[in-house]
Amino acid sequence: MRIFAATSRYVQGDGALDLLGQQCQVLGRSAFVITDTEIAQLLGERVINSFQAADVACSLQIFPGEITHAAIAVLARDAMGFGADMIVGLGGGKALDTAKGVALRLGLRSVSVPTIASNDGPASAAIAVYDDNHIMQDILHLPRNPDLVLVDTRVITNAPVRFLRAGIGDAISKKFEAEACAAAGAHTLLGTPASITGLMAANTCYEIIRKHAAGALRAVEAKEVNDDLEALVEAAVLLSTLSFENGGLSLSHAIARGFSYLNRANGTLHGDHVAYGLLVQLVMERRPTAFIEELCAYYREIGLPTRLEDFGLNHPTPEEVRALAVNAMVSPSAARFAPPVDADQLEAAIKRVEQLNP
Ligand SMILES: [Zn+2]
Repeated sequence: MRIFAATSRYVQGDGALDLLGQQCQVLGRSAFVITDTEIAQLLGERVINSFQAADVACSLQIFPGEITHAAIAVLARDAMGFGADMIVGLGGGKALDTAKGVALRLGLRSVSVPTIASNDGPASAAIAVYDDNHIMQDILHLPRNPDLVLVDTRVITNAPVRFLRAGIGDAISKKFEAEACAAAGAHTLLGTPASITGLMAANTCYEIIRKHAAGALRAVEAKEVNDDLEALVEAAVLLSTLSFENGGLSLSHAIARGFSYLNRANGTLHGDHVAYGLLVQLVMERRPTAFIEELCAYYREIGLPTRLEDFGLNHPTPEEVRALAVNAMVSPSAARFAPPVDADQLEAAIKRVEQLNP
């Protein structure tokens, strides 16, 4: 048995935002758009105009900040009052996941319009729900992936470059995670072994990053859209998601989970955690030191973290290293690795990564 899941339409390009209304026409007559204050000011008018031009009713709603069950419940009531056919998330991960949470609650169509490319969330069926202290509470799942994912690459160039860099971090691990998951005989998040398509996506994702990431980061710094950026955004937003949902996750994402418990790493990004997690995973895989060092050199070239100090943990304490390892074991992805790992082994692997990057 194998299952493949993906968004049913992916639209990307310079100026794509103006096509949002038109692309949403097949999904219904009224769109409830969830966004934050800043994005509402920057892009709200364009979005409203785009829906108007397509004759789709639109209500722009500012969400409160954190993705909690309570916030989702309040927005769901408002969306129902509006008579929404579809819920559109416009903005960063929080706006998008909140919108998916509302769509799930109401059984409506779901649309993701990311304004940053910092992680693999927009095209995914998964919804991370947090408490008010930003500790992850639940991962919910839409019954199907979002009906539409639309990315305006011009908008991506207006976001700080650290977001795109994190998106690269979240994507660069996928090939290794899919391979480790398959080697362990573990299942993907869809509950089956990986599909050929999932593994292919993970491989291509890595190739595109190695070829285009440096050029894409330079493009965002120069606020330009070029072919490197177009290729890289497709890898970070679409392929990265196809990879993890259909290829499976492993230790890189388990380590990333552990970071959310480190106080001194507060405010650092998921994709950066995953990039560091990949280094730990490669140590656990007993890869040759030269292989890991080559990847570390590449990380330094494009600005990805290679040591805990890069997350603000200057002189990490033994307790912090231990906490990272122990909390990584909370993630189900820790079990998608063979032979089975424990916190002691992860702790030793983290120390090894630190030694490689003094
Ligand atoms: Zn991720």
